Amino acid sequence: MKAEIIAIGTELLLGQIVNTNAQYLSQQLNAIGADVYYHTVVGDNPGRINAAFQTAAARSDLIVVTGGLGPTQDDITKEVLAEYTGRKLLMHEPTLESIAEYYAVRGLTMTDNNARQAMILSEADVLPNDNGMAVGVALTHEGKHWLLLPGPPREMKVMFERYAVPWIQSRNGSAEALYSITLKFSGIGESALEQELIDLIDGQTDPTIAPYAKDGEVAVRLSTKAPSQEKAEAKLQPTIEAIAGRVGRYLYAERDIPLEQAVVEWLQQTGQTVAAAESCTGGLVGQLLTSIPGSSQVYAGGVISYSARAKHEQLGVSEETIAKHGTISSETAEEMALGARRAFHTDWAVAVTGVAGPGPSEGKSPGTVFIAVAGEAGVCSYALRLAGDREMIRLRAAKSVLYRLWQ
Ligand code: ATP
Ligand code: MG
Repeated sequence: MKAEIIAIGTELLLGQIVNTNAQYLSQQLNAIGADVYYHTVVGDNPGRINAAFQTAAARSDLIVVTGGLGPTQDDITKEVLAEYTGRKLLMHEPTLESIAEYYAVRGLTMTDNNARQAMILSEADVLPNDNGMAVGVALTHEGKHWLLLPGPPREMKVMFERYAVPWIQSRNGSAEALYSITLKFSGIGESALEQELIDLIDGQTDPTIAPYAKDGEVAVRLSTKAPSQEKAEAKLQPTIEAIAGRVGRYLYAERDIPLEQAVVEWLQQTGQTVAAAESCTGGLVGQLLTSIPGSSQVYAGGVISYSARAKHEQLGVSEETIAKHGTISSETAEEMALGARRAFHTDWAVAVTGVAGPGPSEGKSPGTVFIAVAGEAGVCSYALRLAGDREMIRLRAAKSVLYRLWQ
């Protein structure tokens, strides 16, 4: 079943609200085996909504429309679909009664425009609104299935899950659902990862393999259609193994979790602790780790040593090292990590020092970052050349040091 989503509302076009309904509906529709091929946004204009309906009907089997079911003048979705399908608008009496009751209970008078929310199209099914007044509409016209849902997400989601999903499923009987798993990588860029997997990506249609970058990490989403979760996992397993065989050392999770969560879980499972000494990341390593519930068992604390003096006084980086190599150097990073490990009595300590930009510092260009990991066996440092703006460099530096720790 080919599906598409039409979100109606001039606010969406003006950029005043984000089209989260389309994101939610895409996830839900794919999960029940309806393939979403298009998203459309159209303003509260009858001519353009009608044109969008015609386009959709020509290419999709299921058209899910959100917005414009409310009481105001600009809420015209039902009117336009009535015009498009040549159906009448009828009053749905049970809904009208419950709206009238809502007003009566509160001692308010119901206005005519509120009654509009109880209108439905002829020969349509009613989708109740458990979180609001405007009813939804489901109908089949010339072989195409139409769903009209309210705009407010809390009304739309409940209506969709409780009433629209069974309606769709009864019309899409044998469909297999789309199952996805996400492999998460760190320590490798999106394009380098894609190069490693290019023949797999190009050669395969089932499962599909889609790499993408997000928040300083790289993900590969594998998707396949199957009648059940177990069957999907069995279908995906050979592809996971093929990918792990090539780039397994960067693969930190076979589910969609951030690197810091993988680090915290690994430290928890092995009963180890970590501290951080941070310069250009300004506490970001600590922030990432402490965003994970349970991190208090593994993260002892950190020192944000932004100045040379703080690096010396708080972490014991020697004045000779700073004078000879500068604060942005592998030597300083190593001494920072050793100092943090001493100060916090932890199994591990990580350190970051570098140039976040936009300008150079100590004659070094933005993106020059040194990281270090200290443990029982000693200390190791790595020189990085990170790309991006100031925020991106800081995030990539923090993720890089967590990756080296996890590794
Ligand atoms: P109402 O009864 O509130 O008027 P409605 O069905 O007429 O509901 P709209 O008037 O189109 O819906 O939108 C009402 C509100 O719902 C918007 O102001 C916005 O907050 C939210 N909304 C509408 N469409 C979307 C969307 N596509 N994504 C996220 N939120 C939306
Ligand atoms: Mg409205």
